[in-house]
Parts: sequence; C-alpha cells; structure tokens
Amino acid sequence: MTGFPPPMGLIAELTHRCPLSCPYCSNPMELERAAAELDTEGWLSVLDQAAEIGILQVHFTGGEPLVRRDLVTLLARATGLGLYSNIITSGVTLDDRMMAALIGAGVDHIQLSFQDVDPSENDHLGASPGAFAKKQAAAARIRASGLPLTLNFVVHRGNASRIPQMIAMAEELQADRTEIAHVQYYGWGLVNRAALLPSRIQLEAATVEVEAARARLQGRMVIDYVVPDYHAARPKACMGGWARRFINISPSGRAMPCHAAETLPGFSFPSVRDTSLNEIWNQSDAFLRFRGTGWMPEPCRSCERQEVDWGGCRCQAFALLGDMNATDPACELSPHHAVMQAAVSESESAQTPFKFRRMTKQDAAQPELAGS
Ligand code: SF4
Ligand code: SF4
Repeated sequence: MTGFPPPMGLIAELTHRCPLSCPYCSNPMELERAAAELDTEGWLSVLDQAAEIGILQVHFTGGEPLVRRDLVTLLARATGLGLYSNIITSGVTLDDRMMAALIGAGVDHIQLSFQDVDPSENDHLGASPGAFAKKQAAAARIRASGLPLTLNFVVHRGNASRIPQMIAMAEELQADRTEIAHVQYYGWGLVNRAALLPSRIQLEAATVEVEAARARLQGRMVIDYVVPDYHAARPKACMGGWARRFINISPSGRAMPCHAAETLPGFSFPSVRDTSLNEIWNQSDAFLRFRGTGWMPEPCRSCERQEVDWGGCRCQAFALLGDMNATDPACELSPHHAVMQAAVSESESAQTPFKFRRMTKQDAAQPELAGS
C-alpha cells in the first residue's frame, strides 16, 4: 500500500444499542438503529481490509459490543488475521458462557467500565438497576480467565471525590490497569455539561489523588488519567491528530477520523459499504481535510506545538464556536478561549438534572450471546 502511513487502530463501533443510558455517553444524539447496522459479512470485510492495509489493533466498542450476536465470529476473524483485539464493555452481559466464547476466539484484552464505585450511584447513572453487581462479577470472570484486567471509571462533578475509593476497588479486584477518565464533552456529555463539569478545585483535588495513588502503586497497577479540556491551558491531540492514528467505523459503516466527527457540517463521510478502507484513508476528503498542518489558521500556523496537539479538536471548535476551522478554544492562545471559561463558570452555578441517553424501546439492547 502506498500513501500516508496506515492507522494504528480500527475503532469498530459495532452497534449503538446498549443496556445502559449514561448521560455522558460519547455516542451521537442521533443513535443509529439496529436495522441500519452493518451485517456480519460487512464487518468481516472491514477486518480483512484492516489487516491488509497494515492496521495493528481493533477495538470492538459501541454502544455495547456484546449485544451483537456475531461478536465472537468477528473477534475470531480479527485474531485470526493477527490483529490485537480489545473489547470495551459495560460488562453487564458478560456471563460465563460469553467469557468462555471470547477466550475461545482469542481475545487479547477486555476493558470494563464502571459508572461509579458507589453501587447505587453506578446503577443510577447507567439507569440500570443491578448493573454494579453484574460488573463486579464480570471483573472477577476477566481476572479468572487470565486476561489482564483494565477498569475504566468515568469521572465528573458528582463522583470526583470518590477517586480514592475507585482506586481501592481496582486494587481489590486486582486490576492491572485503571483508567480514571473525566467526561469528554461531546455527544450526550456536551448536552449534560452543566450537570457534569467539575470545578477547578475539584479537578485539582482529583489530580492530587491520582498522583498519590500512582506513586503508591508503582509497579503494581498502571493508572491512566484523562482530564477535561475545559480546565486545560493547551488542548489534547484529539485522536492523536485528525486521521493520523485511528479510523472509526460507525454501526452503519460510515468511516470517520473520530466518533464525534459526524457533528461537523458539510462533510460526506464515506461508507465501507461502497468504498475500500485504503481509499477512505488515503483519498477521501473527510480524512484529508484536517490531516497535517496545512489547514491551520493562526495562532496554530506559527505555533511550535502544531505537530504536538495538531490544533486540538475540530469537533470542539465547531461545538463551542460554530467554526470547525478555528483553533480549539481549549487553547489559551485561541482568541476564543473565554468561551471555555464561561462554560466553567456557568456550570459551577448550575443545578441541572441529567438528560439520560435513550433509544426507542424497540431498539434498546436485548442482551444476546454470540451463537445464540
Ligand atoms: S457510555 Fe454508557 S450508555 Fe454509552 S455505550 Fe457506554 S455503557 Fe452504554
Ligand atoms: S495555538 Fe494551536 S498548535 Fe499552538 S498550542 Fe494552541 S492549539 Fe496547539
């Protein structure tokens, strides 16, 4: 293959169906319906092409990937092709039979998410009574299988004070890695920003707790920490830079540089139903538009960090400024940085209820085991 170096990872959003309803879900507001999902043959072809163009890893995600009846078939193809396989799951349907099937198909890694360390808050956030106990059982199954155990806690204003308990629970469950990830404000998270965004004081206290735990657990457990852009001085390199490291496929087969990109106006995202991954990666306008530095306005154009953060996030620039071509307002050098500060001040005084992620009853997840 010629052209730009291939992506490192394929993010396979197998479905938007999910038994939970988290108010910070990164899925789009317009969730794709089950009937629109790519079928098994479609996904198998995507996996074959991924290996062909030199992709190394596949992340099966959603929604909840375990609700796809063909997950084990897809996983087996991926591992057979030599792709490193990761499943990102809420764990509520990860029973013994599914665990054995995943192991049989050669899964390399499972990342298990918790909404909170407090059982009732966890179940409230996911709008799923009993979810916490199922997740704990899933963690024990992953541990018993011999796979490395990675836990993910999503952190926001309501639970940031419980980070020490989250880490203690991860230790108890013998996790190898724990991700403490502040909500990223896209999709449903952006809608619920006023109810979720922590204050600067909360963020600073959370960071101190994480640093102390990292020092204490060095050599025993890795702790990844993802902070919200709203309190940052410089933006993150969103997805490692636009169309540089990942290719994201939506449940219906639309290819995007990141899962939030479909919020951007004027784009026609190619579909894997009629365009090859090679062509998508190397020739489509959607992937070329913001790749590299040629598109950058000032102050990015003359900034020494332009190949460090790649100008931040296009979706955030559009969501907050209505201009996807602008420097990410998370950057202090942006002439529009004040909008971030205004959002922080606004949320500090807000008493807003959550808007939970919802699908229609018909499309809501009915857990199904592979092969059933
Ligand atoms: S964030 Fe919550 S609702 Fe969204 S896919 Fe994950 S578990 Fe499901
Ligand atoms: S001006 Fe642009 S390149 Fe420089 S730090 Fe800010 S976002 Fe990054």
